[in-house]
Formats: sequence, structure tokens, C-alpha cells
Amino acid sequence: MTLNNIALPHVPGLPVYEPGRPIEEVARELGLRPDAVIKLASNENPLGPSPKAVAAMRRALKNVHLYPDGGGFYLRQGLAEHLGVGMDNIVLGNGSNEIIELLFHAFVAPGDEVIYSERAFAIYMLCAGLFRAKPVAVPMKGHTHDLDAMLAACNGRTKLVFVANPNNPTGTRVANDALCRFLDHVPQHSIVAVDEAYFEFLDDPPDTLRFITRKRAPNIILMRTFSKIVGLAGLRVGYGIAGKEMVALLNRVRQPFNVNAVAQAGALAALDDRAHIERTRQSNRRGRAYLEAEFNKLRLEFIPSAANFICVRVGDGAKLFVALQKRGVIVRPMAGYAMPEWVRVTVGTMPENRRLVRELKRVLAA
Ligand SMILES: *Cc1c(COP(=O)(O)O)cnc(C)c1O
Repeated sequence: MTLNNIALPHVPGLPVYEPGRPIEEVARELGLRPDAVIKLASNENPLGPSPKAVAAMRRALKNVHLYPDGGGFYLRQGLAEHLGVGMDNIVLGNGSNEIIELLFHAFVAPGDEVIYSERAFAIYMLCAGLFRAKPVAVPMKGHTHDLDAMLAACNGRTKLVFVANPNNPTGTRVANDALCRFLDHVPQHSIVAVDEAYFEFLDDPPDTLRFITRKRAPNIILMRTFSKIVGLAGLRVGYGIAGKEMVALLNRVRQPFNVNAVAQAGALAALDDRAHIERTRQSNRRGRAYLEAEFNKLRLEFIPSAANFICVRVGDGAKLFVALQKRGVIVRPMAGYAMPEWVRVTVGTMPENRRLVRELKRVLAA
């Protein structure tokens, strides 16, 4: 008798999420100094956290003997004001990853169908396995979501449809009108989760909020996060914006204190830190243009990105990943996304971007 026999039969075979490798881990393994290693692997904010958030978190620390506000009142109030929605249109999550899981808890039974793109955020697939749903991975068109094909894949058993815009790992976006048309046509019995983790990087963002405010679509949820543009990935705060009925359901399936007190304080302060958000956007625009120009010079194919990362075709992605890592640059190999010739690099600060290009040239020349 092994524990595997006692576990639910689908659990021992579940795949394990492979995150971007932490700096400390790589430094330890390769005998490098941690400050000599740069991480361009998880689409984090290279400028660091919002300074306003850091100050607010320091103040919040003196009260960590108390449980957090399980209802997240002030953060939801801040978000509601910021977005022009009601407080009861917002559900908080331990990262938007948790919102994804809450959707499965609330809506997905074994055998239900879950639709996403063939190159979508890995968590959709992992949750589908965990909840024994039937995954339906729809082929992409030119590295972008094929929304028509995704719509055609919807049937009576479709419970959840994920559309990340911009998409991770490809960095591509869909046209605003195509997305809105898609949202107008998805059947009412299917929940659509629009994953907007990189929304704030878009120059010309779609007006998806109107599906919540004006159209009051009961089956649409927008997911956003404090992990990317405001630089609070380590805190774990994300949120869903949806109709009241959906929010009420998701609140029933979450842990009472899913977002900790320090995180609530930090996220609320970050909302007001326009300067940090603007700095981040500008730094990203500049860094992305630099990297794309350098990839062009090196005659490396890349996928033009609408986000803060770029997929670039390097030949043997796994090999390049290892070689760069030895030189203290952590990127993300893409074999897990059926893109073995590619790596994904996060746009860093300009010194980080230059270092990436320098090491990339050395490795490719060798
Ligand atoms: C980074 C990312 C998220 C954010 O996850 P958090 O749990 O909020 O840190 C969500 N969706 C996609 C597609 C992402 O790339």
C-alpha cells in the first residue's frame, strides 16, 4: 500500500507547474553571487515594487497579530472607485491564479469542457487536470488567439473559456473589436474569463469593463493582478471583476482570509501610485523596442509583443536557457508550451536588457 493508492486516482499523475527559477536557487546551484544573477523569466516589474506600496506595508506590519479583513473592504472600495464599478463587482484572490481556481471550484465538474488556446497560460491546463475537466486546446492563428475557432469549439458542455489578452507566453493581443464581438457571442451557459494580467501595458486597451457595467453580462469575468505592472508579484494579490451574482458565488468557494493584511495594504497604496505605473510603462516600452531591434540585428525571429516579455526563436531553447543561466541570466525555456526552439524573456531595466543581449551574442557565437 503506497500513499499513491490512497490519493485520488488522478492526483499522482498531475503535472507540476515549473515557475521561473528564483535568483537565489540559481546562484546557490552555480556558485554565483545572487547580485550577479538577473531574472528575466517571470514577467516581474524590473523597477521593483511601487514605493507607495512598500511604505503602506511597513505601516501595516504593526497589526499583523490581527487577522486580515476577510472582506477586503478598503481594497475593494479602492478598486471599485478606480474602475467605476460597485464593490460587489469585485472578488479578491491570492493572485489572479486563485481567481482561476475559484472559477473551477464554483463551476466545473469532472468531464465538463474547458476551452483555452494551445499556447495559453499553463495554470488553465493545470486546473483542468486538477478538477478532472476535459481540456479543449484550440490552435492559434499567427501566435494569436483564434477567437472564431474558440467560439466554434463552444458546445453544451463548455463550462469555462479562458482568453488571456495580452496572451502569455506569446505576448500577442487580439483586436479590440474582435474580442468584444467574441464576448457578445459566447453562449450564456459558458463562463468566459478574460485574463488581463498585462492589460495595463496596452496602449489602446479594449473596453472590456463595459461588459460588467453596461451590458451586465452575468457569465463574463475580467481578471487583473497586482503582480505585473505595480510590481507586487511576491505579495500575491489579484482580483476578478464580474457581475454581483458571479462575485457572490466565488466568495463562497474561497478561503475566508485568502488575501493577507499586508498584501491588502500594499495593493491599495499601489493603486494610487500613478508615477510608478507610468515609469514602468515607459521603461517597458523602451526596453521592448531595444530588445526587438537587437533581435532583428541578430536575425532572430521573435513574436512582436504587446506586453512586458518577448518570445524569441533561438534554435535549441533548452540549451540556450542553460547556457544563459551559467552566465547569470535566467530566462524561460518554452518547451513546455510546445515551442522548443523558443525562449521567453522578460523586458528588464536597460542595464539588464543590455546584459541579456551581450550574453546572448556570446552564447550564440559559441
Ligand atoms: C502573470 C500572469 C498572471 C498573474 O498571476 P498572479 O497569480 O496574479 O500573480 C495571470 N495570468 C497570466 C496570463 C499571467 O501571465
